[in-house]
Amino acid sequence: MNLILMGPPGVGKGTQAEYIERKYWIPRISTGEMFRAAARFGTELGLQAKQLMDVGQLVPDDITNGIMRCRLAERDCAKGFLLDGFPRTIAQAEALDSILAEWNKSLDAVINIEVPDDILIVRNCGRRTCSQCGANFHTQFNPPLVENQCDICEGELQQRSDDVEETVVKKLAIYAEQTKPLTDFYAQRGLLININGNQKLEDVFRDIVRSLEKSTTKEV
Ligand code: AMP
Repeated sequence: MNLILMGPPGVGKGTQAEYIERKYWIPRISTGEMFRAAARFGTELGLQAKQLMDVGQLVPDDITNGIMRCRLAERDCAKGFLLDGFPRTIAQAEALDSILAEWNKSLDAVINIEVPDDILIVRNCGRRTCSQCGANFHTQFNPPLVENQCDICEGELQQRSDDVEETVVKKLAIYAEQTKPLTDFYAQRGLLININGNQKLEDVFRDIVRSLEKSTTKEV
């Protein structure tokens, strides 16, 4: 299955992407993760991306399309893929179309998770990630047993530099302006699946699976 997972920052894409990846055995491709990894390695691209990420701006389309073209050419994508955080602009969606057309591939569905903005601000600003093992926590909804310490490996918990309120508000505005129009773009092609993300994680996942079963002819 070739899938896109869409939704504003903090909507729970990362968690749902992990569930989908495990259920359907397709690789999750997150442009945000790729940029953060590049920043950790200190590559030129990573440092350039980090400057933009830290202020809630999008990385330019040509750079983002370039890394996606390379990633989709890797062997593990032959059996399908789940794009998380890409495309984020109409220009990226058009670039994706041409990449897929070159390989005679097409999209099966676009999953769009929806949550009201005021809830997203609370969700984003409370996110904490273990600096050692990457486990995710939330100060309010999933607090660690000991403040600022990972329950699994006792590593220090960190807040992503783009999860501060000012940046989150900016990212939501950019999402509304540049990424939300993609819902019409994909709805016109009959690919869009809207999912209520304001419910328990397992209920969000149940709705995703049910909708995919209805919308694709492939065995799931
Ligand atoms: P995410 O992990 O998906 O929330 O992405 C974190 C940040 O990475 C975003 O706020 C952008 O700065 C950058 N980014 C991720 N994906 C894209 C994309 N498709 N286009 C442009 N910038 C992106």
